[in-house]
Amino acid sequence: MIVGVPKEIKDNEYRVGLTPASVRQLVDAGHSVLVETGAGEGSGFSDDDYRAAGASIVASAAEAWGAEMVVKVKEPLPQEYDFLRPDLILFTYLHLAADERLTLAMRDSGVIGIAYETVELPDGRLPLLTPMSEVAGRMAVQVGAYYLEKMNGGRGKLLGGVPGVRPATVVIIGGGVVGTNAAKIALGMGANVVILDINVDRLRYLEEIFGGRLTTIASNTHNIAEAVKRADLLIGAVLVKGAKAPKLVTREMVSTMKPGSVIVDVAVDQGGCIETTRPTTHSNPTFFVDGVLHYCVANMPGAVPRTSTYALNNATLPYTLKLAAHGLDAIRQDPALAKGVNVFKGHITYPAVAEAFGLPY
Ligand code: NAD
Repeated sequence: MIVGVPKEIKDNEYRVGLTPASVRQLVDAGHSVLVETGAGEGSGFSDDDYRAAGASIVASAAEAWGAEMVVKVKEPLPQEYDFLRPDLILFTYLHLAADERLTLAMRDSGVIGIAYETVELPDGRLPLLTPMSEVAGRMAVQVGAYYLEKMNGGRGKLLGGVPGVRPATVVIIGGGVVGTNAAKIALGMGANVVILDINVDRLRYLEEIFGGRLTTIASNTHNIAEAVKRADLLIGAVLVKGAKAPKLVTREMVSTMKPGSVIVDVAVDQGGCIETTRPTTHSNPTFFVDGVLHYCVANMPGAVPRTSTYALNNATLPYTLKLAAHGLDAIRQDPALAKGVNVFKGHITYPAVAEAFGLPY
């Protein structure tokens, strides 16, 4: 199969669909890979790196999009809609339920759109979302520690404290992938970590893996209010699959936090689990409400594209290889991949996407 890798054109997007190592695997399996010149620059890969891995460098986006399958990171933007065509397989993050114009453009083009975010294993895990949650969870503490510093707007508290001085308290709401990774880093930095979840089995698991070094608390309004009051750094990491995040932390609770405390609402991409959250960007990441610094960047992994591109490729490559080897048969053979199909030859095939816009499927 011929596989194309266009350069990402979304603002501040530095990730790329395939690393040179992934290209090498595809080429070794007998496929051809067309990489648009400069596509890997933001992640630190030069055209020469791709050439050495066996790719052909092409001068334009149109040439990369001319392949039989395109592997990307972000959804197509309007400038790319004309590249969508029948029989093209597009494998990327799509987030169609948030974008009616794109959904219609995809449907009407006849393209086969496979969304990373809806590839789903039989046990319900989303293997192509997990790596980005791992990145965002680990970053949440790093970013929080930075903003707790006085000159960055925070209350001037070191996460780990020092001997004789209390460490900071990090409160994490939601103990899934983001929450667990945040807890790991916060514990590593010596913070006092409190994690809340509604799933008690999950809390049991967290206590087990962290050897009792953190405090687990059942999530309910009373417990959240008590924990939020004590937090120096509050991390929102809740997900209710397929739904907007519930607003678990009210504005009133935020107003009980100490001035200069920091909120990192990672769940902002699903609307946020804190009432005072609104989406921000890497170029303007923070704002204050009631003296509490908020960081609510919806694409946190974009700040560390080199790590994120590798992490994404680790997860996507097995599926990319299957699609390249078997074409549409790969979808028939692999139920997880079949769940990823959102648009197929003029039809919307993912119920939640069709329902979002009242369209048939
Ligand atoms: P996950 O499904 O692994 O974990 C979510 C956890 O929230 C689960 O353990 C669940 O039991 C818990 N939860 C649900 N309702 C709760 C409640 N009322 N109180 C407490 N806990 C509750 O999801 P994840 O992969 O960790 O993702 C978390 C969020 O982070 C999602 O919204 C995801 O989209 C987002 N995310 C954002 C970025 C970013 O750049 N901002 C990057 C990656 C992920």
